[in-house]
Amino acid sequence: MKNVALHSLGCKVNRYETDVMGQKLQESGYNIVPFDEKADVYIINTCSVTAIADHKSRQMLHRAKKKNPEAVVVACGCYVETDPEGAKLNENIDIIVGNNRKADIVSILNLYFENQGSAIDKCLDGYSVTDINDPGQKYEKMELDKMPGHTRAYIKIQDGCNQFCTYCIIPYARGRIRSREQEDIVNEVKLLADNGCKEIVLTGIHISSYGLDRGESQLLSLLQELNAIEKIERIRLSSLEPRIITKEMAEGMAALEKVCPHFHLSLQSGSNDTLKRMNRHYTAEEYAKSVELLRKVYELPAITTDVIVGFPGETEDTYEESRAFLEKINFYEMHVFKYSPRKGTVAAKMEDQLTDKEKTRRSNILLNMTKDQSKAYRESFIGKQEKILWEDYETIDGKKYLIGLTTRYIRVAAPEDELHISGACPGHISDHLIKSFLRDDTLLI
Ligand code: SF4
Repeated sequence: MKNVALHSLGCKVNRYETDVMGQKLQESGYNIVPFDEKADVYIINTCSVTAIADHKSRQMLHRAKKKNPEAVVVACGCYVETDPEGAKLNENIDIIVGNNRKADIVSILNLYFENQGSAIDKCLDGYSVTDINDPGQKYEKMELDKMPGHTRAYIKIQDGCNQFCTYCIIPYARGRIRSREQEDIVNEVKLLADNGCKEIVLTGIHISSYGLDRGESQLLSLLQELNAIEKIERIRLSSLEPRIITKEMAEGMAALEKVCPHFHLSLQSGSNDTLKRMNRHYTAEEYAKSVELLRKVYELPAITTDVIVGFPGETEDTYEESRAFLEKINFYEMHVFKYSPRKGTVAAKMEDQLTDKEKTRRSNILLNMTKDQSKAYRESFIGKQEKILWEDYETIDGKKYLIGLTTRYIRVAAPEDELHISGACPGHISDHLIKSFLRDDTLLI
């Protein structure tokens, strides 16, 4: 029996795929060991969203080979798609597995071991990679049936992206949009629910495109089917495009009691001039309309977002326009990113690149803003009853607490020495009165 260690970098989609690869390897007789242990095979599901992510991917590959020079090191995913020549020349890599080939990890390893010492190349003469940008690519079937010890599962529903935002390399690494069969998703979720999963997070590279490759959006009909699965108690959505939030979509979701009122609507900038040069297909006004629709059908929905500061050509005026827009929308949380040029993207070649000092100045202003906005949002739940999915224990300032999340993704703590009173229990959802802050990012029952 060979020992295999897996490591996932980057997004929730990679996380899901790594879990599926682990499950398939275990089912076919491999022994899964933690990544910091010595293994016969190391599998790194790489990320390439930024130059730093590329660097981290190469670092993990190096660490694996250093840990056991005899081991077979497998590099999967986005880094090998965006830098295939670099991957081929990388001495730490024995096998290259492209996106859309991960489900065959077992047969790929078998073929490698059968041909060890022969002239077969790192892509196993083309067996372990595909032309990811071939529009004829189909969705790569994968299924998880258990999530040991987890109450929440990430569920991959689609792959690929057709948006081509000018700062983003992902469409070149993940290819064109491909939606998973709705029936397969429902079956997977039913299996996971039977194995104790309470909450699912629908994820993908661009879930707002779910179904569009089959003619029309099918996200709402998928949510309706998942909402009917008895043992599932919560459905959460990962990042959404603001354009998908129509009146019909907002009202349709609000009618589904298990859909969490937590929406990550990726904005990137509050300036229309910048949005245009980012090739984002909406205006700030349209974005505000989507938020308004959600605030009409939900009480205090948790609206979170991503914002890039220092995009090439962002002037003091367009930055101020963006800042003022963010202040007006008043998000639960903003993830603030300083623009970093990504080789191979349109924006990396744009003029008027800003200094890092200026990007830092602009991002600090937004980081202070989101700190205040987040705290104010959390504060609005003090004195309210909230349903909390309790998960793991944590020690905070020397005292042990059970930590959970509300439907609006707010962290809540229950003192361990009072669990017999509060009734909070790991892996279960229960209703509690929110009493106060434990700290800025955590409330207390
Ligand atoms: S929507 Fe834009 S930012 Fe998101 S993966 Fe697609 S191209 Fe990248």
